[in-house]
Amino acid sequence: MAGEPQADCLFCKIVAGEVPADVVRETGTTVAFRDINPQAPTHILVIPRAHYRDAASLAAADPRLAADLLAGAGAVAEQEELGAYRIVLNTGAGAGQTVFHVHAHVLGGRGLEWPPG
Ligand code: 5GP
Repeated sequence: MAGEPQADCLFCKIVAGEVPADVVRETGTTVAFRDINPQAPTHILVIPRAHYRDAASLAAADPRLAADLLAGAGAVAEQEELGAYRIVLNTGAGAGQTVFHVHAHVLGGRGLEWPPG
């Protein structure tokens, strides 16, 4: 069922505490933790506790939770005093998505070029 934990999902296991993570912020609906392979001095992933494969699926099923995810990204950026930062939602393997539990990358702490690669 939409939103239910998936047994084979790495990020569901982080939500459940079965896989350790460097958690920086938690709410009733979201968890934020440092990326294991950071692409910037600050690189944090913000995820909904509920399982949706990508941003569009989440927004279609639960717009309020999608808003929580974006608000969580902003709150983390403020907490980390990033000033300027980038929120990235890779969608689909061709765009670099490797974990199919929606996550917002929050990247900052260095200059960020445009367009991204
Ligand atoms: P994607 O490529 O799907 O947009 O992003 C997945 C992100 O998850 C990558 O940046 C990758 O470094 C990160 N990642 C993969 N496995 C783990 C893990 O076990 N712990 C943490 N904290 N991050 C992970």
